[in-house]
Amino acid sequence: MIEIDKVLKRLGVQANNSGVSTGLKCIEGSGDILESFSPVDGRKIAGVSSADGDDYELVIKKAQDAFGKWKLIPSPARGEIVRQMGEQFRLYKQDLGTLVSYEMGKSLQEGLGEVQEMIDICDFAVGLSRQLYGLTMHSERVNHRMYEQWHPLGVVGIISAFNFPVAVWSWNAMLALVCGNVCVWKPSEKTPLAALACQNIIRKVLEQSEVPEGVSSVMIGGKDLGELLAGDTRIALVSATGSTRMGKSVAETVGRRLGRSLLELGGNNAVIVTPSADLKIAIPGIVFGAVGTAGQRCTSTRRVIIHTDIFEEVKGKLIGAYRQLRIGNPLDENVHVGPLIDKAAVKSYEDATKRIQEAGGTLLTEYAVLSGPGFESGCYVVPCIAVVENHFPIVQQETFAPILYLIPYTDLEEAIALQNAVPQGLSSAIFTLNVRESEAFLSQVGSDCGIANVNIGTSGAEIGGAFGGEKETGGGRESGSDSWKAYMRRQTSTINYGESLPLAQGIKFEIE
Ligand code: NAD
Repeated sequence: MIEIDKVLKRLGVQANNSGVSTGLKCIEGSGDILESFSPVDGRKIAGVSSADGDDYELVIKKAQDAFGKWKLIPSPARGEIVRQMGEQFRLYKQDLGTLVSYEMGKSLQEGLGEVQEMIDICDFAVGLSRQLYGLTMHSERVNHRMYEQWHPLGVVGIISAFNFPVAVWSWNAMLALVCGNVCVWKPSEKTPLAALACQNIIRKVLEQSEVPEGVSSVMIGGKDLGELLAGDTRIALVSATGSTRMGKSVAETVGRRLGRSLLELGGNNAVIVTPSADLKIAIPGIVFGAVGTAGQRCTSTRRVIIHTDIFEEVKGKLIGAYRQLRIGNPLDENVHVGPLIDKAAVKSYEDATKRIQEAGGTLLTEYAVLSGPGFESGCYVVPCIAVVENHFPIVQQETFAPILYLIPYTDLEEAIALQNAVPQGLSSAIFTLNVRESEAFLSQVGSDCGIANVNIGTSGAEIGGAFGGEKETGGGRESGSDSWKAYMRRQTSTINYGESLPLAQGIKFEIE
């Protein structure tokens, strides 16, 4: 069995930790002591002194000073520093993945996968550091040249959620850094230790590269710190990942000061299963999407929209698959489903099972909170399946738990309409071997989500694509493709190398 205390020691996590770090220095936070408990066994892992308003001021001041120096370093040289951070994450992959699993409750495989995403985004950012391209245009004026270039924004505030305690930070931070910004990270108060461990891992690189203090800071605390970032005109971009409720609050506050926000919020993701679907891949795709991370991914599969001709067959196969699920300690690699993050999440699971039945839905499998040996934390629940109607209020909202809704359909147009008829728009998928169906799903009258997959489940995105969703998911895009543009400001420049001053649109303005 993995010895957690040794892992913590190697990651520099102590019994009591300073919750403020400016990259080079750790500072005792003056706020309350925040305690991190593992949902795996209920153990208190460690305490962290959280940041108060004065600590916040200090961090932002250091970040502003650092920006003045960091933006002058050529982008490929910043990329070299990010490359070294990626090397450190490679070295600490096993330990950091284990801590993510133990502090958050996802399976060790998924914890390791999260660190692999961090390594991948570092590699991506290194390449990007030489590819921050702007376009050139032909000017309509004689002897003029017109082009656009991209400049860094300034201090980027990163607010992250508990369910991806480290990867989402790296998606933002590594791109923001090569773009010339400095970062201030406010991780979830539910997973502070994973954040501090990341800071410990990159500290050596920051020191050896003689990077100014404040290029990459962390401050541990609750939503009040996130609210400070949202309202602060010194924060050029607030990148916030979390619930739609949080995103609406951040968007309002940032919008009031006409600042920039990048929002990655809740999902309510569906899979459409058509009569031609290859059920050998559809069933595992659906089950992994629904129970992976115990249903606590923004991209978790929540709804399955199944053609009536195969509804009973798919239902039977899903029930059969759910019977095989092993629930338990996520550090045990034979286990499929670990715990929920905390008892509040367990309560929302219980409430949802009641509301499904009150609305007229039918629960098809056992649903229960587990107790007894191995389940002492009180955070383990049995993943369940229910037949529902799409318009039920409980189905319209994101319940962050392993509850899978089955909904029948008769023609594809109806299936796509059902898939789109929720307030969220993150991820979607269709299982079909019919090219007309898959193309309709991907067309402009198809899925309205930021992610639309064919013969792949809704979760498990690669870093190379732009990640994010529409509607109440917030509209932001992070990670690959040209998402880097969100971390820079565009400047259009026109240069006159002639001897006269022609005006655009042929306007005449003559003076002696
Ligand atoms: P949450 O909204 O409770 O908290 C997320 C973060 O926001 C935390 O750091 C929290 O302290 C902070 N916060 C909360 N209220 C705030 C406010 N008013 N102002 C500023 N900051 C505030 O979310 P959670 O429970 O940690 O995470 C689960 C949610 O995150 C789910 O809805 C999930 O779908 C979503 N999520 C989305 C993505 C995505 O990329 N779309 C990725 C991961 C998680």
